[in-house]
Amino acid sequence: MSENILRRGIIMIPCDSCRESSLECRMSAWSRKCGHCVRRGVKCNAVEVSSSDFSKVERERSRIESELQTTRDGVARMSASLTESLARMNRLEKQQAFLREREGEMVRRGVENIEALEKLEEEERLLKERADANTVATSEPAGANSSSASGEWVPSPSLLRDLDIAQWGFVDETVEPNVGTS
Ligand SMILES: [Zn+2]
Ligand SMILES: [Zn+2]
Repeated sequence: MSENILRRGIIMIPCDSCRESSLECRMSAWSRKCGHCVRRGVKCNAVEVSSSDFSKVERERSRIESELQTTRDGVARMSASLTESLARMNRLEKQQAFLREREGEMVRRGVENIEALEKLEEEERLLKERADANTVATSEPAGANSSSASGEWVPSPSLLRDLDIAQWGFVDETVEPNVGTS
């Protein structure tokens, strides 16, 4: 019982026993002694509190607990939403940077649209693959990152369809001017 009083009872002006030991004096409506005095089995001179005072405190306690829970839930929701928004922002910024790079490339090569640029680059890639196959006698088919050794970044033709460049990261800007382009 003393545990319960010490945990949930309201704080009183300390009884003599608690004052001597400089303890927190707590009391509940169902007990005429404070928690420490119940535990020690000694007389207690803490002032009795009416049960209506206790129920007031009890109501206030549960109001705070419920409000606190609601607030915690809100914070958790906002936190999740923030994480999501940050990820979206990051993705959009990468897409924006990618499109800017494509646009610059279109201007540089004098093509009118992305499709033409993709086509051009695909042709170059095939040419390069063929050239590589001739010089380096390798039978391994070239993958998406096969030409990274030369510092040239080659996009796949389906790139624009997904436009999810998060997978590729940032685009290397040091693209060498290629032969056979106008
Ligand atoms: Zn006490
Ligand atoms: Zn006491």
